[in-house]
Amino acid sequence: MNYAIALIPGDGIGPDVVQEAVEILDAVGDRFGHVFNYVELSAGGKAIDESGVPLPPETLESAKACDAVLLGAVGGPQWEKLPGHLRPERALLGLRSGLGVYANLRPAALLPQLRAACPIKDEVLIASNENGKPEFDLLIVRELTGGLYFGERGRTPDGTAAFDTEVYSKTEIERVLRAGYRAALLRRKKLCVVDKANVLESSRLWREVAAVVAQDYPQVETSYLYVDNCAMQLIRAPGQFDVIVTSNLFGDILSDEASVLTGSIGMLASASLGDPAPEIAASSGGKKTTMGLYEPIHGSAPDIAGKDLANPLATILSVAMLLRHSFSLEKEALSIEAAVNKVLDQGYRTRDIASRATATLSTGGTAAVPEKIVGTREMGKRVLEAFESL
Ligand code: NAD
Repeated sequence: MNYAIALIPGDGIGPDVVQEAVEILDAVGDRFGHVFNYVELSAGGKAIDESGVPLPPETLESAKACDAVLLGAVGGPQWEKLPGHLRPERALLGLRSGLGVYANLRPAALLPQLRAACPIKDEVLIASNENGKPEFDLLIVRELTGGLYFGERGRTPDGTAAFDTEVYSKTEIERVLRAGYRAALLRRKKLCVVDKANVLESSRLWREVAAVVAQDYPQVETSYLYVDNCAMQLIRAPGQFDVIVTSNLFGDILSDEASVLTGSIGMLASASLGDPAPEIAASSGGKKTTMGLYEPIHGSAPDIAGKDLANPLATILSVAMLLRHSFSLEKEALSIEAAVNKVLDQGYRTRDIASRATATLSTGGTAAVPEKIVGTREMGKRVLEAFESL
């Protein structure tokens, strides 16, 4: 099968981590018989330097013509003094809305090897884990292009008051819920709708729509939580969650809270998805793709750019998400995740995830060897070797 992937390496550590992820993708292609054709595009600071704008129209057009987009990170101190609409980060908003990706999927799983990085006590984690282990594995699906961040806002004429408006249409709610259910079907088949329906009218509409959409997914167990309770439950019993679906504002806050529980920003991948493509055109060889924008959740990390210190695992895991969600290549996605797991079991750590202790294994035991601290290139090479030895 042939797939077109737009690569937007961006700024700072972006190009370094994207390069490692592409090498893994190529190895996946070789093993499973796929051809990934890359189209490298400019956005962010690089595009500003080249053409004066963070998202040149040709970047968006070329990205839209591809099957999926992989982005490193954008931004850096050299562009910080530019006016808001010309800053590198504007490229992200333009890409999200231009590509029509409205569902932001952020997995937050605590890997046993990185247990030391999680601030929650073992007994608290174990209490909510159905296998009795100090682990959790959840996915937050955040609505990305509506709600409070896009509603009408302003100040009163005398400047003594300000307002922001939360507006959601049934269509916006339904499509992000369906994205959540599709993800839940690939996981443990539990979905929690998080809102503030005891106070907000927009949340009451979320519940109404969810009650209808849930009927189409009888295999998935649906539950509801108020956002304040959810914020507490994430700390108290994170193992109870599989998929959480929520609004733009609540998702922004809860996904940052959940990411802290996993320890390192250098490990966390994300996917922003649009509508699944229903047609399977004979001319495309029968492939079915869903447009998605995949990126690590970290930024361009100017403090470590060019120093071979960046952890490439978040971007490598973003590629696994790309294969799973955009191309429905589950086996291929699992093989990347298994390779990352194996490398961590072997004790390899970039500096951000090193505990400077004896390495913990995925089985929960400790390794015979201490952790080995490696740079970006070597971490990528080790994942490649682990993939090839699977
Ligand atoms: P950051 O995520 O770039 O860095 C925060 C800290 O985490 C830094 O100490 C950095 O060294 C470390 N870090 C980040 N990624 C790492 C990795 N892969 N491996 C090891 N350590 C890592 O956040 P910031 O410093 O607030 O922002 C820097 C620039 O990135 C800013 O211009 C910001 O606007 C931009 N940014 C871009 C995105 C994006 O492109 N999606 C997201 C966030 C921030």
